[in-house]
Amino acid sequence: MQRLISYSYEGLRQWGVLAADGQSIYPAYDLEETYYIPLAETLEEFIETGEEGLLNLAKLLESNSRDRSVEPLPLSKVQLEVPFRPRRNILCVGKNYQEHVREFDQNKDAKNPAAPIFFTKATTSVIGPGEAIDSHPDVTEQVDYEGELGVIIGKQGADIAPEDAMKYVYGYTIINDVTARDLQKTHVQWFRGKSLDTFCPMGPTILVGGWPAPFTIYTRVNGHLRQEGSTSDLIFSIPKLISVLSAGMTLLPGDVIATGTPKGVGMGMNPPEFLKKGDVVEITIDPIGTLRNPVK
Ligand code: MG
Repeated sequence: MQRLISYSYEGLRQWGVLAADGQSIYPAYDLEETYYIPLAETLEEFIETGEEGLLNLAKLLESNSRDRSVEPLPLSKVQLEVPFRPRRNILCVGKNYQEHVREFDQNKDAKNPAAPIFFTKATTSVIGPGEAIDSHPDVTEQVDYEGELGVIIGKQGADIAPEDAMKYVYGYTIINDVTARDLQKTHVQWFRGKSLDTFCPMGPTILVGGWPAPFTIYTRVNGHLRQEGSTSDLIFSIPKLISVLSAGMTLLPGDVIATGTPKGVGMGMNPPEFLKKGDVVEITIDPIGTLRNPVK
């Protein structure tokens, strides 16, 4: 298990591997310069190198664990960046937890969807850890959070069988599927209400190298726990989502699937409580980390 991270240091965007203590980074550039195994320049490019890239990275880290020539860079000295920028729209799943279906439909007997509800978010909505979510007061009055596990695809494929699906998973990250509820309703198709600028915080790391599912998702607003859900409660599992989505449609390395949000969104509260300027949203999924974004 490794956690990959993008960051700015001395004015340059770089990437590296988070040390086990989570407090420092092994810069990819330093590792390759020290041990002469090439890595990609950016995490976007590294994802495209798939398993081969991960094997090279493992060799580098092993060399360094022996002679420790590469000094870890303290996290406090860098600015975190979005781990990578997806090339095309973020692929999302709506109503994928039963209790959220009920709060969304405001009906305790609401039925689960018969097939996954897919929609997308524009790539221009992506922001990194620490960046502010814009409350867009001229456009919406109902900005809401949705804490979600993001699944990153590592290789190209179509018509993927559920039993083969996990071979296409590169790693995991955290996504806040921020939503303007009023726009989501007005425009029927969810695209616009989900795609306003800054509405897709992502990060802080990409977890690679296998991790025993399930994951637990915690969302806090100003420190108060709002969502606590396990991916074991997904209506449509990760293999199922990959299989259905890839039937007749090619998935690409670097595609991200936001797998849906558990119950506890602001619109489900009585009365509903939407995000406002000054709020701080934190989504924690261990061991990926905590994705923290203020609202402006
Ligand atoms: Mg969502």
